[in-house]
Amino acid sequence: MMGMLYTSTRGQTEMVCSAHAITRGLADDGGLFVPQKFPIVELEDILNLSNLSYSERASKIISLFLTDYTCDELKECMERAYSKEKFSGFAAPVKFVKDKTAVLELWHGPTSAFKDMALQLLPYLMTLAAEKTGEENKLVILVATSGDTGKAALEGFKNVKGTTVIVFYPEDGVSDIQKCQMITQQGDNVEVIAVKGNFDDAQSGVKSIFADETLYERLKENEFALSSANSINWGRLVPQIVYYFSAYADAVKGGYINAGDEINFSVPTGNFGDILAGYYAKCMGLPVHRLICASNTNNVLADFFNTGKYDRRRDFHKTMSPSMDILISSNLERLLYHLTQGDAAKVATWMKDLKVTGFYNIDNNDLNKLQKTFFGTWVDEIETKETIGNVFRDKNYLLDPHTAVAWRACDKYRMLSSDERFCIVLSTASPYKFNVSVLEAIKPECASHNLDPFAALEQLQELTGIEIPFNLRKLETQKVLHNKCIEKQGMKDMVLNILNL
Ligand SMILES: *Cc1c(COP(=O)(O)O)cnc(C)c1O
Repeated sequence: MMGMLYTSTRGQTEMVCSAHAITRGLADDGGLFVPQKFPIVELEDILNLSNLSYSERASKIISLFLTDYTCDELKECMERAYSKEKFSGFAAPVKFVKDKTAVLELWHGPTSAFKDMALQLLPYLMTLAAEKTGEENKLVILVATSGDTGKAALEGFKNVKGTTVIVFYPEDGVSDIQKCQMITQQGDNVEVIAVKGNFDDAQSGVKSIFADETLYERLKENEFALSSANSINWGRLVPQIVYYFSAYADAVKGGYINAGDEINFSVPTGNFGDILAGYYAKCMGLPVHRLICASNTNNVLADFFNTGKYDRRRDFHKTMSPSMDILISSNLERLLYHLTQGDAAKVATWMKDLKVTGFYNIDNNDLNKLQKTFFGTWVDEIETKETIGNVFRDKNYLLDPHTAVAWRACDKYRMLSSDERFCIVLSTASPYKFNVSVLEAIKPECASHNLDPFAALEQLQELTGIEIPFNLRKLETQKVLHNKCIEKQGMKDMVLNILNL
């Protein structure tokens, strides 16, 4: 069999193997790496996944893409990443909450958010990739985070030899618990920096560091190479494809759907990585009818899927689902590449327009094609709270705000489309991670402006009887180890400073 190769969405680089795509993160032409074709998984093989452990399921799917890793290597990576010590029990359980609606819980990892599904695995993939590509430089992993990626990357890469992790987060753009998780991070190779700005500022800063050729040379001379743990990295995306297959197999096994039935998934979306993995699963033969792209008040994607115009020129809103407070969804670039059957020149033009003028338009033909698979909608703050309250009261199931956005988006889709297919709602964070908002939603009389996040943890446990995840409970007593805060123009200097250059 020919190995899988990867090409850039902007078309100006050679095809590379997966190890190369994973060590570099971003292609040299500024584009993102995409697989040159999609392997097909037969229905029978999908159904058989239900008899396997999560790490075995992951090996089956991921080996189709990472053809330059051996089966033994992958097996070992998966076993370490999805071990019992890292994930309490099965890594991605499906909870059947009400008729035709299930929740895929992706937050049983060490940081209580779905980013662990990929970031517990990425360090193993990356260190092997560095060996395979003969990379002798020390890897400097730059991360811009809206809250969850940062902590998950820090946990995944802490004390991993040959790597340094530098995380930039928006000073006031993350929840108290998220901030606390990051600034107490231990490890001899980690740095956590607050940036005065929002997530898009932090992400743009990181992207321009990647694009800086003089910096690249200077780092190389000093035996450093940059890489990324954001979902622009192929090594972040590929592990996310697994749980779509896994959930489908479990839904058939549980008797909730028949083998071969098309179903829908509703995905709380920010940078478009999670939902793109669902699209890839569909391209590989998973019976998916629609992917519901759920946004919060930052509704740039909802507008895009409804009008074909992507327009970032709008106010940025801080919401109770901060991991989706994003106006520039990087992974959409990959979808556009597939949509246009690999028209890299067109993609490059759109991306340039987005950068220079702040918007681009796709034509009607492309939009119609998109709408066959994607449905975009958005959910405001009041609806989000209402949904958390209603689902808890009626179904005794506690949603975090991100998951509540996806749940409500599914309701809206059903109302508008009359499509009553089975829907799996992706649950991306533990409700305890956003405990103040969740508590206010289920018990409005608790709403006070300065509810202490640790008191809120306890109150939520009393109210719901659900145990506080240990990683969050222990935070209160941990020492603050990181307190740097910089202007958004200072990110590059900070990187140089950290590396003693
Ligand atoms: C990152 C994140 C999202 C958004 O996922 P994308 O892949 O960026 O679209 C949604 N919810 C939570 C809790 C997250 O951490």
